[in-house]
Amino acid sequence: MGANNEPYSFIKDNDSELYNVLMREVSREEETLELIASENFVSYPVLEMAGSLMTNKYAEGYPGARYYGGCEFVDQAEDLARDRAKKLFNCDYANVQPHSGSQANMATLMTFLSVGDTIMGLDLAHGGHLTHGSSVSFSGQLYNSVSYQVEEGTGRVNFDDVYDLAKKYQPKIIICGGSAYPRHIEFDKFREIASKVGAFLMADIAHPSGLVAAGLHPSPMPYCDVVTTTTHKTLRGPRGGMIMMGKDFENEWGITAPKSGRTKLVSELLNSAVMPGVQGGPLMHIIAAKALAFGEALDPSFKVYAQNIVDNAKTMSNELLSKDYRLISGGTDTHVILIDLTNKNVTGKSAEKALEKAGITVNKNMIPFDKRSPFITSGIRIGTPAITTRGMSSDEMALIVQLIDDIINDIDNEDKINKTRSTVSSLCKSFPIYSELHK
Ligand SMILES: *Cc1c(COP(=O)(O)O)cnc(C)c1O
Repeated sequence: MGANNEPYSFIKDNDSELYNVLMREVSREEETLELIASENFVSYPVLEMAGSLMTNKYAEGYPGARYYGGCEFVDQAEDLARDRAKKLFNCDYANVQPHSGSQANMATLMTFLSVGDTIMGLDLAHGGHLTHGSSVSFSGQLYNSVSYQVEEGTGRVNFDDVYDLAKKYQPKIIICGGSAYPRHIEFDKFREIASKVGAFLMADIAHPSGLVAAGLHPSPMPYCDVVTTTTHKTLRGPRGGMIMMGKDFENEWGITAPKSGRTKLVSELLNSAVMPGVQGGPLMHIIAAKALAFGEALDPSFKVYAQNIVDNAKTMSNELLSKDYRLISGGTDTHVILIDLTNKNVTGKSAEKALEKAGITVNKNMIPFDKRSPFITSGIRIGTPAITTRGMSSDEMALIVQLIDDIINDIDNEDKINKTRSTVSSLCKSFPIYSELHK
């Protein structure tokens, strides 16, 4: 809030060009339906903290051991973030400094591997993430990457296949988790295989971490050596990453392997891999905002929110099934729904474009065994975290599926697109976000 009680009025007075850009984004977020599964709306306090003056502080290092003076209060913020993360995920170790999920993964792989070692992750085209070994990412360029896939019929990971691959290629680390996997990640089954082949097990819970925190998705902590996440997806915090371990342990590997002869704890190796390994100064305003968001996630109301996310996704997937949509894995256990549009004779790309014009934001997505390129795709991915934050529930889910279906069935009908856009806009008006901006 600036002068005259007008939101962002200081920006307006200082730079009207950028102010206009910001206001267009405010309207877009407030007046359209956000169905991108990896997005959410942070609370207004988290927004305020992310915009706070802690952005000014250099704090290379960790609380109590910084390379700069004046860190007393940012230390307190980072300690709160780490303590709350440990409580939230029931773990021994948390590093809240990674600027993003990709940085968290990079630091983790640098801790456990040497360049050229073999990693094994879920194929990008089958729901994995770029940082799990894709050839266009550091993870596929620095390491020898082997990918496992999902089964064509079930859309789920087949653990006999994963075991066969792991036996054959002897990966040093197995990565479980992904960006477009609608089902629970089966940490226990990955653990069995990792133990049998002597691999480390890393879970990337970037997508379901809010559901894990709420107890609605199994926890990776008892099974995985190391766990990474983003903080901005179902967890509803500021954009960022985090690395955790259920239990710390000693290790002799990694880029920062001891030269002193003393075996280091993996926590020490991970800390050095984050800074100075892949990052410099931490974003203290974002770390403080993470602390605030973790505090919100520890509140009992977050469990209700997370349950609503899952209930809404189930309602939506049932509505889609009843309209003859083919869903990868036949439905969802989480906030993610992956739709194969092949039987509707529409590509992911054209669906994304038409829906965007109608005020419904989704992303085109490869489906397993997709015959189309990543730029076209046969599917779309949708998710419920953001619309659930707005307070929408089952009636709205049914309506939204109806609106999507109307567009998909008549993809070039501009009239219908315009009508849908006004329905979307009035729906959004009934579920306001950031009312604080309009006081
Ligand atoms: C979103 C995501 C990431 C990366 O997050 P960024 O913050 O965009 O770098 C990593 N892993 C998985 C599985 C993700 O879904």
